[in-house]
Amino acid sequence: MPAMESQFFIGCHLSAAEGFRGLARDAIAVGANVFQFFTRNPRGGQARPIDPTDVADFLETAAAHSFGKILAHAPYTLNACSANPETRRFAREVFADDLKRMEFVPGNLYNFHPGSHVGQGVERGVELIAETLDAVLSPEQSTTVLLETMAGKGSEVGGSFGELKAIIDRTALGDRLGVCLDTCHVWDAGYDIVRDLDGVLAEFDREVGLDRLRAIHLNDSKNPLGAHKDRHEKIGQGCIGLEALARVTGHPLLRHLPFYLETPHDELSGWAGEIALLKRLRK
Ligand code: FE
Ligand code: FE
Ligand code: ZN
Repeated sequence: MPAMESQFFIGCHLSAAEGFRGLARDAIAVGANVFQFFTRNPRGGQARPIDPTDVADFLETAAAHSFGKILAHAPYTLNACSANPETRRFAREVFADDLKRMEFVPGNLYNFHPGSHVGQGVERGVELIAETLDAVLSPEQSTTVLLETMAGKGSEVGGSFGELKAIIDRTALGDRLGVCLDTCHVWDAGYDIVRDLDGVLAEFDREVGLDRLRAIHLNDSKNPLGAHKDRHEKIGQGCIGLEALARVTGHPLLRHLPFYLETPHDELSGWAGEIALLKRLRK
């Protein structure tokens, strides 16, 4: 354990309507110092134009409140390994546009779901995802692109640590990629973070390397270990449970990372309660 206690970077997914300014305001309101947001409508579509005043305001607020890294989430409809070339072209365009926009808030994170191979097989899926990444990544960009660990439902690629590593290895600028570990997804994929968190982290280290791990999506799960479902639950109300999730935020190998809640709440107060609780439990 480091001698100097590091800051606890905890926040949630937010969807303020008025740009970065609104996101920062809501983050502060829920007691967060990081947040996740969609770059555009989660189903795809046009992104709002970047407003330089909004960005400047945000950067000032973020500095004043010692914010950690913010995490942009790509639309769910983005499928980099679709069998349809049109869908892959759309994925590439959205990805490239999002990365261009992220440079207005330099040095942050961009997370995407690797995709679904829709019957083409994992190997072809990996190849197409790496092709997309090769088309959009540039050595100059300051944003770190993160592959999210998936639950392995349907033909999802990225349901195992080995599949994520295969994508990284196949990508020319793979050294610029990181991983975002979603606790609900890895649990649903069959990694037992309740009874054997150390073992799961050791496996991640062997397969991918813990230096690649850059963010945690902190969610409980509605389903049992290995269910391959991907249904998030509120913290402490699912099959993972509060104790196991608190062990994740306090783990010596993870505690320096930013944690983002993607739990189902309709009101900001729901996340405020979870953030306060996790701060209290952090050892
Ligand atoms: Fe996600
Ligand atoms: Fe997630
Ligand atoms: Zn999910």
